[in-house]
Formats: sequence, structure tokens, C-alpha cells
Amino acid sequence: MRQKFGQNFLIDGNVARNIISAAELTKDDIALEIGPGKGILTKIIAPIVKKLIVVEIDNNLANKLIKDREEITDNGALRDTPLSRFAGLPPQGGQITLRDETTSLDSSSRGKDNNGALRVDPLPDPLPFSEREDNIAIINADFLKLDIEQSLFSSFLSPLSSLPFSSSLPLKIVSNLPYNVGTAIVQKILPLPFWSSAVFMLQKEVAQRLCAHSGAGDYGYISIFRAFYADCQMLFDVSPRCFAPQPKVVSSVIRLVNKMPANAPDPLFFPFIKHCFSMRRKTILNCISSFNGIEKPTASAILQNAQINPMLRPEKLSIDDFTALTLNIKKYI
Ligand code: SAM
Repeated sequence: MRQKFGQNFLIDGNVARNIISAAELTKDDIALEIGPGKGILTKIIAPIVKKLIVVEIDNNLANKLIKDREEITDNGALRDTPLSRFAGLPPQGGQITLRDETTSLDSSSRGKDNNGALRVDPLPDPLPFSEREDNIAIINADFLKLDIEQSLFSSFLSPLSSLPFSSSLPLKIVSNLPYNVGTAIVQKILPLPFWSSAVFMLQKEVAQRLCAHSGAGDYGYISIFRAFYADCQMLFDVSPRCFAPQPKVVSSVIRLVNKMPANAPDPLFFPFIKHCFSMRRKTILNCISSFNGIEKPTASAILQNAQINPMLRPEKLSIDDFTALTLNIKKYI
């Protein structure tokens, strides 16, 4: 196990299929998986989508996937093959239900059956083999250092479409992210214009911070950064027992939907929010009056213009409040 790469491999086929079910993949989709590892998600996704691009940092794992590429695109069943043994998978069978390892946090959209197991949508049927013979692209690279646009567009995607990729075939992303760089990977993806939805498994605390709304204890800079670019839904928790080696923490699966903001953020917007949350116990009046040399009377005027109570702490302010404040700050600096 390469600890530095956050290699806690998922070994529960039910959880794998539930993650993929949440991604709502179709045969027309182009999917991206970051950190395929031993391929537990990869080998379920590849047979049901038009194209799957995976980015794996570990040379050994990437080479193994390259070697097993044909098997991944084979008939989509989790047969007892070298790859399924490699991925630690049991042979496929029966209806998909969640055992007690996985807890639904969203009973509204994902109902339970009579036995209390979480019901999930069935996965689409695999595409005919002829349509997916070469449908998996394996990139051996550090996702954080990758020029994604160049790698995805020029190397793999342009042959599939003559239209600009962003407007024709936005990516669906599905990943069990490494704990150590999960936030950094999500932060890199969020501002990109060429994805539509993403299902991520992350450390539970990180997932909660990403999805938090104003007023919650775990609301912070990353919650607002996420909210600018995407809607977020907590789906379910996954126990450490579902991984090998077992992590010390609980994981959660979340779903992001790209809001495709029409305009880029104002250059002051995120630096200002970061500044405020670096002093989250202070009032917003103090936060503004210590930003970019703004004097206290000016900070008061900014707050009055934006109709925000100067005594509130940053954690009580919504993304709209920060937008209004940024607009008003710009008038004074
Ligand atoms: N998807 C597999 C699974 O569910 O069992 C593996 C998940 S494991 C938590 C994280 C994977 O991400 C590992 O395969 C690891 O080598 C890979 N990884 C870690 N850092 C990475 C990075 N910066 N870029 C690409 N892959 C990375």
C-alpha cells in the first residue's frame, strides 16, 4: 500500500455499484475517474459509457490497468477473472442493496425497501462490446499537476465530437478520492467548465465541509467555493470495513451538479472570503476593516450598503451576502 497516495481500496461491490448508480451514467456519456486504483469502479463504469478516462498517479496500478484494459471493456459482468481478483471483487450477483456498512443520508430521493435496505436505480445494461472496444483511456499522472484540458481534449476527446467539448458532451465524474488530496482535487475540478456532475467518495468531514450551508459549524471557505460552482448533496456514508486497508475514518459519498456560472468570480471575491474565514471568530465589521487597508468607518458604510449586520460572524453569511460585500468593497478600493 502506498500510504502517500491515500490507497484505501474499496472492496465492497454493493457500495461500488451504489456510487455508480448515483452518477446516472448513460451509454452516451464520457466519464472521468480520478484514482482508479485496482479498478473496482472502473470495470463497472467502462462497459456502460461511451468513453471512460482514468487518471492514476501510481505507475504500478496504471500499468496493471493498461494490461487489463481488454478485460475491463469485456462483458461488464464482475466475473472471476484476473482483473476481478486484482480488484478484490466478488462475482456479480443479484439485486443491488446496501448493507449496514452504508447509511443513507438522503431517504427522500433514494428510498428504502421493506427490509430497510437502500434502494438504488439499476445500472444501465452494458454497451455491445463492438461499441466500446477502445473506450477506456488510462492516463498515468498526478491529477493535480495535469493540464486537464489538454490531456482530455486533444488526446482523447476531440475524435468523438467535432463540437467544442464543453458545450456538447460535458464529463460525468465518478471517483473514490484519496483522503490526503481529496479537497485539492475537488478544488481543481470545480471551476472547470466541461463537467456536468460528479459523484465523489471522500472523508466524511471533508464531504460535510463541502456541502455545508451558512450557519453550520463546518461551513467555511471551501463550502462557499463549492457553492459558487456547484450544488451539493450528501448521499450516504461508507464504513471503514468496506476498504482494504481499513481507514480510521468514515467516508461519505456526495453528488455535485455544475451550476455553470455565467461569469468568472470577481478577483476580490475568494481572497476576501478566505480572509474572513482566517478570522472566523471576529465580526464581519472587523474582517472588512482588516482587508486591503479598509478603515473602520468605510467598513461600516460597506456593511450598511449591503444591508448586513456588522456584528455577524463570517460563518453566518451566505454566498449572496459575500457577493454583495465584494461589490461594495470594490467601490472603496
Ligand atoms: N478507485 C479505487 C477504489 O475505489 O478502490 C482506488 C481509490 S484510492 C482511495 C485512491 C486512488 O487514487 C489510488 O489508486 C491512488 O493511487 C490514486 N491517487 C492518489 N493521488 C492521486 C493523484 N494526485 N492523481 C491521480 N491519482 C491519485
